[in-house]
Amino acid sequence: MASLDTNTQARLRLVRERIAQAAHAAGRDPDEICLVAVSKTFGPALVQEAIAAGQTRFGENYLQEARVKMGELARFGSHEAVQWHFIGPIQSNKTRELAESFDWIQSVDRLKDAQRLSRQRPQGRPDLQILLQVNISGESSKRGVPPQELARLALEMAALPRLRLRGLMAIPEPSPDPVRQRAAFAGMRRLFERMREQLGEPAPGRSAAVDTLSMGMSADLEAAIAEGSTMVRIGTAIFGART
Ligand SMILES: *Cc1c(COP(=O)(O)O)cnc(C)c1O
Repeated sequence: MASLDTNTQARLRLVRERIAQAAHAAGRDPDEICLVAVSKTFGPALVQEAIAAGQTRFGENYLQEARVKMGELARFGSHEAVQWHFIGPIQSNKTRELAESFDWIQSVDRLKDAQRLSRQRPQGRPDLQILLQVNISGESSKRGVPPQELARLALEMAALPRLRLRGLMAIPEPSPDPVRQRAAFAGMRRLFERMREQLGEPAPGRSAAVDTLSMGMSADLEAAIAEGSTMVRIGTAIFGART
């Protein structure tokens, strides 16, 4: 029988192969690395194709776009297994909608936003899973916590109810040079290890379970996995170029 694969399904398979190969090259178990499909700018039909191919985690950058897409997908049928990750810049006046719509927020970089998310997470929903975004390349234009402020913020955040601090996220300055890519990711790995030492053991009154290092995109997932990434966020390689 001719292949019924859609483009999206074929590309997803290639991405999963890249992840598996990178894991093996690093002596790691591919199952340690989860894949977030970044669907920003792409419509619900493509997300639906990815879901049909077994993809369950999706990343979105823009709140309103994501809410419309979630509503349209719900009309195709229920997707209880689907997990939505917010990976875009947080606007403080939108935290309520974020807390209502998403399962994970990967881009927290201010205590104020975390406090609002903590208060606004609806009763009856599971705790909101949180990553702190780190400005690892020190770019003044980028969001993210400066590395030297991370330890204090992590400690303050770990005490907030309804949030579970799971780890760190970063978007290093893009570089075509694998050596430079790895240097930034290695810096993240050290910060992550320090955070695990600081908060690793869940203690009474602490809601942390630090197990997630979100780094690696279409162009640099191999370097990220070589340096210990446990979650890659892939858009272009799955859905094609954004226009
Ligand atoms: C767009 C985006 C991605 C995906 O990037 P690709 O290069 O298309 O794979 C990953 N993470 C964040 C935070 C993004 O904004």
